[in-house]
Amino acid sequence: MVQSFYDSVLEQIDVTAERISLDKGVHKMLRQPERELTVGVPIEKDDGDIEVFTGYRVQHSGARGPCKGGIRYHPATDLDEVRALAALMSFKCAVANVPFGGAKGGITCDPTGLSNKELQRLTKRYIAMILPIIGPRRDIPAPDVFTDAQTMGWIMDAVSMYEGKTVLDIVTGKPLDLGGSLGRREATGRGVMLNTVEVLDRLGKDPKGTTVAIQGFGNVGSVAAQLLHEKGSKIVAISDVSAGYYDPDGLDIPSLMNFVETEDRPLLCNHPECQGFNTIDNDSLLALDVDVLIPAALENQVHSGNADSISADIIVEGANGPISKNGDSILNEKGTTVVPDILANSGGVIVSYFEWVQGIQSFFWGVDEVNANLKNIMLSSFNDVWELSKEKDVSMRDSAFMISLDKMAKAIELRGIFP
Ligand code: GLU
Repeated sequence: MVQSFYDSVLEQIDVTAERISLDKGVHKMLRQPERELTVGVPIEKDDGDIEVFTGYRVQHSGARGPCKGGIRYHPATDLDEVRALAALMSFKCAVANVPFGGAKGGITCDPTGLSNKELQRLTKRYIAMILPIIGPRRDIPAPDVFTDAQTMGWIMDAVSMYEGKTVLDIVTGKPLDLGGSLGRREATGRGVMLNTVEVLDRLGKDPKGTTVAIQGFGNVGSVAAQLLHEKGSKIVAISDVSAGYYDPDGLDIPSLMNFVETEDRPLLCNHPECQGFNTIDNDSLLALDVDVLIPAALENQVHSGNADSISADIIVEGANGPISKNGDSILNEKGTTVVPDILANSGGVIVSYFEWVQGIQSFFWGVDEVNANLKNIMLSSFNDVWELSKEKDVSMRDSAFMISLDKMAKAIELRGIFP
C-alpha cells in the first residue's frame, strides 16, 4: 500500500528531529497543526439547486510569522492532505528564510465541473467562512492546484467588502490589475529552473543538451519547461491529466506554451497538432531515461511501488510531496539526487512575500527587481542546503528539513510557550 502523504511528512519530521536532536516538546509541536477549520460551504448552482462542498484551512505553525500558503480545489483534497501541505509550507518558508509560518487551504470539489460564476460564489462563501482565522497579519492565502490569479481577485474582493476598504495584503498571487506582483505567476516555475540549473552546475553538468521529462504542464511545469528550453535543455516529455507527449529529439515547447497561454483551462489533448505527437503514459514518463525528471503535478507520484523504475539521475520536485518517504529512501539508495519540494518549488512563496511587501507599501517593483531578488534568495538557500548535505553526508531533503526545523525550533524557543 502506498504510504499516505501526511504519513510521509510526519515521518520526515521524525527522522529530522532525531538527526538534529530536536527538543522533544518542539518535536511534538511540529507534528501537530496549530489550528484547523473545516467548513461546509453551500452555494447556489446555476440551475438554482444548492450544493454543499467541504472546505478546510489548516495553520501548521505561526512561530516564524503570519501563516502563509495556497488554496487547492481538487476532488481528492481532504483534511490530511491539507495538513501535510500546511506543514510543508512552514518548512518551505523557513528554508527560504521568508518571515512566514505555514498554512494551506482546500475545497473538495471538481472545479472543471463548475462554471466561472459557481466558482466565484464557492470561493467567496468559503472565504467568508474561514474569515475568522485569516488576515493580512494572521494567515495569507495564495493560489495552488486549480486556483489562480482570478480566484485570488475574488478573495481580495470578498475580504474588502467585509472590511469596507480595499485590502491588498490579505492574499497573494493576485491579478496584476489588482495589486499582484510582476513575476508572481511564473515564480514557481522560474524557481524550479534556477534549482535545476544550479544542481546541474554542482554536478558538473551543462543545462545545454540536458534531457528533461516534466510531469504536469500547469503553472509550474509549463514555465519550468519554457525557461529550461531557453537554457538549451531538451524537454523530451511532458504530460497533464489529459495526455502525455514524448519526442526524443525534444518537443516544440514554444508551440505548446503558446497553446497553454492562449487557452482558458488548457488541456494538452486539445492541442491542435496533438495527432502528430508520440504519446506516453504516466508510468513510462516517470521511468524515462532522462537526465532530469521534474514531477510538477500532485503528491505521491513516486512511491515504493515504482521508485525502482526511475532512471533519471536528478529529480527536481516542482510539486509538493511528489515522492513518498518510502520512495525517497529507495531513490537515496540508488544515488538519485533529489532537490526537495521545500527548496525547489519555493519560488512561488518567495515572490508571494514580495507581493505582500509591495501591497503593504503600495509601491510596486519592476520585473527585473522581482526576478533578481528571487534568484538571490533561491541560490542562497540552495547553497545552504547543498553545503549541509555534503557536510553531514545526507540527502538534500534531509539537509533542507534540518535547516528548517532548526530555524523553527529557534523561533519557538525565543518566543517561549504562551502563557
Ligand atoms: N501554493 C504555493 C506553494 O505550495 C504558493 C504558496 C504561497 O505563495 O503562499 O508553495
